[in-house]
Order: sequence, then C-alpha cells, then structure tokens
Amino acid sequence: EKKELEALKGQKSITKDGRIVELAGNIGTPNDIEGLLNNDAEGVGLYRTEFIYMDRPSLPTEEEQFNAYKEVLESMNPKPIVIRTLDIGGDKELSYLKFDEEMNPFLGYRAIRLCLDKKDIFKTQLRALLRASVYGNLKIMFPMISSLEELLAAKRILDEVKCDLEKDKIAYCQNIEVGMMIEVPSAALISDILAKHVDFFSIGTNDLIQYTTAVDRMNEKIHHLYNPFNPAVLRLIKMTIDNGHKEGIWVGMCGEMAGDKRMIPILLGLGLDEFSMSPISILPARKLIRKLKYEDMKDLASKVVNMSSAEEIKAYIEKILF
Ligand code: PEP
Ligand code: MG
Repeated sequence: EKKELEALKGQKSITKDGRIVELAGNIGTPNDIEGLLNNDAEGVGLYRTEFIYMDRPSLPTEEEQFNAYKEVLESMNPKPIVIRTLDIGGDKELSYLKFDEEMNPFLGYRAIRLCLDKKDIFKTQLRALLRASVYGNLKIMFPMISSLEELLAAKRILDEVKCDLEKDKIAYCQNIEVGMMIEVPSAALISDILAKHVDFFSIGTNDLIQYTTAVDRMNEKIHHLYNPFNPAVLRLIKMTIDNGHKEGIWVGMCGEMAGDKRMIPILLGLGLDEFSMSPISILPARKLIRKLKYEDMKDLASKVVNMSSAEEIKAYIEKILF
C-alpha cells in the first residue's frame, strides 16, 4: 500500500480516459511545506493566512507576512499557490483585536467583512502578498464573499495597493490571478455573475454545508445533520462549477469534501478542476482518480445530484465504491 502510493509520486492525476485534474494541498504555515513536498502536492489550493495573525500579542508586520508568503512561493515555484486573505472571526479570535460580542459569530463580523472595514489591516496584507508575488506563482483568494459588491470592493482595494506599489517603484507580478471562495449560499446562487469578475472559484464546503443547511459546524450535538451528501449542497456545487466553466474560469474546492474518497468520484464527474486537501490525502486521491473514468463519473454525478436525500446518495456511493 505504502509502496504503491510512493510509486505515484511524479505521476499525473489523470483518469483512465485522460481527464487531468490538479491535486493541491491545504496549509496553515510555511512549516507545512515539507508535507507538501513529501506528498507530491501539485500546488497549494488554500494557504490559511490567519495563523500568521494568531497566538501573538499584536498584528504581524508587512515584513513578517512578506517573509512567510515568499518562503511558500519560492519552495513550490512554479507550482500555483493560492493564498487566502485573512479569514478571522467566527471561531477564530485575535486577542489584540477586541470587538463587541456577537450573538452569531459565524454570521457576523468576520473574514472579508472585517477586512473591508479595517482597510489598514487588509492593505498591509495585500501589500505583503503583492511584494511576494515575484517569487513564485501566486494566486490571491478572498474568503466569505456573499455579494458582488463585496467582491468589487475587495478588488478595488487590491488595485489601490497596486497603485501604491507603483508609486513606490516596488515590483509585483502583473498577471496575478484573483479568485474567491464560494462558501456562502448567496455566492453560489449568483456564481454566474461573480464568475465574470474573477479568475477562479474555490468552493469552501466546510462553511458551505454549515450555511446551506443551517448546521453549526462546531456543534457536536447536531453533528449528524452536518452532511456533505446533502443534495442541496451538491446542487450548489454543481451550479458553481457549471457557472464558472460557462465564463471560462477554473473551479477548485478547498473544503474537507475535496479529500473525501467517497466524494471525489462525484466531484470529478461534476467537472471540478482542482482538489485541495490535507497533504496526506493527495496520493490516495491520485490513486483513486487514476482508477476512474471521467465519462462514467459524469453519469454518476448527474444521477446523484438528482437523488432526493443524503441517505440515498451516501448508500449509493458506498455500494459502488466499497
Ligand atoms: C471552508 O469553509 O470550506 C474552508 C476551506 O475554509 P475554513 O475551513 O478555513 O473556514
Ligand atoms: Mg470557510
């Protein structure tokens, strides 16, 4: 088993009938680079930058951020690295940024909402990212976008920071792809509109499941209701991929679902282009994908998205795959 996975290093993630997808890793710090290299990650689909801001007494400086981003970009160059801008709030708090207590933190002042309000924090991060962009293949991703206005506001601030750098004669890469997470149902539902303004989508199923089904992802008591097989979730995923492809952009996924061997056949069949997961799941996912036929998975996907319940979908998948 271990040997078999080892032999897959350097191999393509390709189906039997020639569909190639990208298998990338999710990381939290530059310390995770080793895991990416050991597991032959084809890129980074999600670098969660909030860890740079956590467990410390004050905001990280532009220089500290620049160094962390540069390290990851250089170590993987020329592989694509998707770096997500600050996604704090919800369950992740910062001791040095105290805000009013909220009734529903996951529905509150978090991620892009906070960044659009605290522009200085956002601009410092974007400046560090742009400066680091010359060291590798950077793609910038905004979290928790729930409307077109938010996306356009975030892009406007990015343009302002680019102008500042030009004034200061500081180099940055001119053709950085800019994308957004699809993790709020409102974003999935207008993904046809949003796709016209970004270079890629990455579906965040951890939050998308939570918000679509109104099930708190942290609440043990209702954990049985948190179900990736929920047909409502699968329909939103299908809608997002179809709308992205109609506008000619690539669509990835960086939620836990992307590394789940029961979900990969469905996602492949729905046309997902990039799967980003915990690095240890990459080689098993490659092994699975190389055994599948894309044409068959398309049939499978269209069958399951039309099923009526999570139970039915799960039973069907487990029967054919085990
Ligand atoms: C997600 O919501 O699926 C996601 C990848 O982001 P996080 O888990 O960091 O909220
Ligand atoms: Mg999320």
